[in-house]
Amino acid sequence: MSGEAVASLEARNLSKDFHLRSGFRSTVLHAVKDVSFTVEAGRTVALVGESGSGKSTIARMLMKLETPTSGSILIDGVETPTRGRALAAYRSDVQMVFQDPFASLNPFHTIGHHLERPIRLHHPGLSSAQVRERVLGLLDRVRLSPAADYVDRRPHELSGGQRQRVAIARALAPGARFIVADEPVSMLDVSIRLGVLNLLADLQREENLGVLYITHDLATARHFSDEIMVLYKGDVVERGPADDVILHPQHEYTRTLLAAAPEPDNLGRLRDEVRAELGIH
Ligand code: ADP
Ligand code: MG
Repeated sequence: MSGEAVASLEARNLSKDFHLRSGFRSTVLHAVKDVSFTVEAGRTVALVGESGSGKSTIARMLMKLETPTSGSILIDGVETPTRGRALAAYRSDVQMVFQDPFASLNPFHTIGHHLERPIRLHHPGLSSAQVRERVLGLLDRVRLSPAADYVDRRPHELSGGQRQRVAIARALAPGARFIVADEPVSMLDVSIRLGVLNLLADLQREENLGVLYITHDLATARHFSDEIMVLYKGDVVERGPADDVILHPQHEYTRTLLAAAPEPDNLGRLRDEVRAELGIH
């Protein structure tokens, strides 16, 4: 008898070309070239590359905001739907956390409002009291506590790190099983980055989430991921277990990126400090 299949989000031979026109000339930019990977439930895969390497294009294709030129996206081994109810279900399953926590929340709406909307969409039968209870539960899950202190605030009353926690709560609200986090901490102050990354790591472990962690930083990729893929001009040039890629880089480009990364040991120490501060053991 075969075991139960592990839940997974898979990119299979994904490519994306952009047709650029300048004056009379037309050129093709191969932004993503034949990229394949699988994010299993309960695991974090890092996609690492410098600006312009194609990371966000891959994220947008996974979110179905961009149509691949070729290749496919599968969830639990099944090709993803392109329309209708099945597409709505896919969008609940796979959620994104964007780079800019300031732009991704509406300044006119309370934190509670941001979280209520996806809950009501996903569970139309819930009473207002039940929705409120779920909103408070979500804020607890992202360690914004006491939750009642945050629910009626507006985004400008929160720090960047707190806003990014709200963005993560919003991603969880429709019952996401996979999170695509596109440079989720690169716009945050260095001192709060690890707190947000630790939160994602804890959620991944405690709630069996699959996480695609997109970053240009190999040190945090090593620390927070099981597997690393290095993207260079749309090509995955190197991949493997996180420690192998960092300790024994095979590709010249990976070595260049490593030379620019902070000391991993310091990161380990910092991570413990942040965990202690947040009371996470
Ligand atoms: P990254 O997220 O790694 O910085 P992107 O995926 O945003 O990279 O971009 C990869 C390449 O594709 C870049 O050269 C970018 O200019 C180009 N690109 C991205 N989106 C578009 C678009 N809609 N039209 C044309 N070119 C694009
Ligand atoms: Mg990007």
